[in-house]
Amino acid sequence: MIYKNPYCRKIKGSYTMLVRCGYCKTDIALYQKVGKGRLLRMYVERIIQSSVDLSGKPGTLFCPNCNQQLATRVTLKRKDTEAYVMVRGAYNTKLL
Ligand SMILES: [Zn+2]
Repeated sequence: MIYKNPYCRKIKGSYTMLVRCGYCKTDIALYQKVGKGRLLRMYVERIIQSSVDLSGKPGTLFCPNCNQQLATRVTLKRKDTEAYVMVRGAYNTKLL
């Protein structure tokens, strides 16, 4: 099941990145990545779609297939934006 992210905004100059569960390789999200560094967190508004329903802004992201914890939601004070801080080693990324 793929859910469109209702909070998604188009980000100019971004790359499309596929984020997968590091344990079972299930596709977790399509993400608009800015810059070439590693993915450490996903800003909610940059997630295009996800296999997790983000409409209720879940506090924790679990893999829908194997139930491993992949990320925790935080609110960044400076920009008042919400992001999912990824759990180290729990995910893989691939530029599309
Ligand atoms: Zn998994």
